[in-house]
Amino acid sequence: MKFLVVDDSSTMRRIIKNTLARLGHKEILEAEDGAKAWEAMGENSDIDVLITDWNMPEMNGLELVKKVRSEDKYSELPIIMVTTEGGKAEVITALKAGVNNYIVKPFTPQVLQEKLEAVL
Ligand SMILES: [Mg+2]
Repeated sequence: MKFLVVDDSSTMRRIIKNTLARLGHKEILEAEDGAKAWEAMGENSDIDVLITDWNMPEMNGLELVKKVRSEDKYSELPIIMVTTEGGKAEVITALKAGVNNYIVKPFTPQVLQEKLEAVL
């Protein structure tokens, strides 16, 4: 299973990658903003799960999700948003844009595992 982890914080990308690795996942691509993530998706059509931050330069996570969902081939792609934006309005906005699950930072490895299992 191939993951794309998108966050402008390299520390956060590492935390997510390490958590995924501990869950037995080894194929993990990363990108530091939405634009680079979109580029990576163009080059890797076989991504199975997208995990993205919201607040990022260039293209933010919400814009990325909308762009991804605008393509038929990604209509079923599981997307998890991992963000500090924990407000109810933000969660609803993200879900409306097509996010499958939502994690508020900081999070525990168990939360990531549970949210991941819920979308797979
Ligand atoms: Mg960020």
